[in-house]
Amino acid sequence: MSEQIFFIHPAASGRSICRNCGQFIAKKMLRIGKNVPNPCDLENEGWGDITLYYHVPCMFEEFDKEKAKERKIKSPADVCGFDQLKQDEKETVLKLIHDTNIKREDNSLHQFRCLCNKISGEDSNAGKTALVSDYLKKGTSGSGFKGDVYLLMKFLLPGVVKTNYRLSNTDLVKYFSEIFGTSHKAMEEDLAQTEVWEIIRVCYEKSKTVTPLEESMVSLREMDGLLTGLSTATQPIRILKKIIKRCTSNDLMMVVRLIKHDLGINSKAKYIFDGLDPNAYEAFQISEDLKDVVERVQSKTLHSLPGIKMKTGNDSESYGASGSSDKKTLVKRQAEDVRQTTPSKKAKPDSTTDDCKP
Ligand SMILES: [Zn+2]
Repeated sequence: MSEQIFFIHPAASGRSICRNCGQFIAKKMLRIGKNVPNPCDLENEGWGDITLYYHVPCMFEEFDKEKAKERKIKSPADVCGFDQLKQDEKETVLKLIHDTNIKREDNSLHQFRCLCNKISGEDSNAGKTALVSDYLKKGTSGSGFKGDVYLLMKFLLPGVVKTNYRLSNTDLVKYFSEIFGTSHKAMEEDLAQTEVWEIIRVCYEKSKTVTPLEESMVSLREMDGLLTGLSTATQPIRILKKIIKRCTSNDLMMVVRLIKHDLGINSKAKYIFDGLDPNAYEAFQISEDLKDVVERVQSKTLHSLPGIKMKTGNDSESYGASGSSDKKTLVKRQAEDVRQTTPSKKAKPDSTTDDCKP
């Protein structure tokens, strides 16, 4: 077990200030301390750690804002003093740990990959919709999705919420061959018969200069930030190097697929939107604003979007499964549908997709 940097105890005085909400922590109120290196010790002269204090719920809120690689409380063993708490206090902390762990999973690139894998393996459109809807209702744990719905939808719809990375397959192969210390020529020749993400995955695993992470731990939010940086970078290789440090080989394959706007899930955008709400696709066609559509679904205000004709019969249930009206609207909309994926070069594009592997 690694060194404990968190401890929990009642505040000795009322003088400490919570680093999350900025309020004083009342005397005797339970608080969590986190020991961090002194930020003023710029020369690394061994000034020792300082302690940051948080209200207990605030500590867990803070974890949401931090990068995935920051130390977090994932079990009671990570918190010194847990054993001394009263039973009801233990239960409160355990619930916060449990909920935060679920949220972390629901917001992870790993679970996103697993979802894509399932959608890709599902042949029917209604089945694809149901997988999205089910995930948004139940999440990874089965007890409810605790992640960021907008981010999940944004990642599921890279061909719709389009970020232009200005990176051709040739560019990608050039940059990654440099990072991997692999033959640029060999990688480029492989492009004729193999998808670029598969080439990059294999070369990452074989690289002698960089080693893939063994466990997938990057969050969608962190990857979203890195990809946003990539889209505006004047030197993409610098961002690609940062991305690699956060990726297993399967993570990296998915990242390249995101860059190429091709998740391999063989689904039109409409069937993904339908998993959010039966009216979400039409709403997006009107507003072209995914964030607005997600917020309206969550606040049940889709009906107030100017110009929308709500489908009847399903009462716009949030994250509702696709209704029976799907077939009727399909024909009408097909022409204007945005294609979510391009047909793959190979008949079985996902023979290499991981089955929820790291
Ligand atoms: Zn607080």
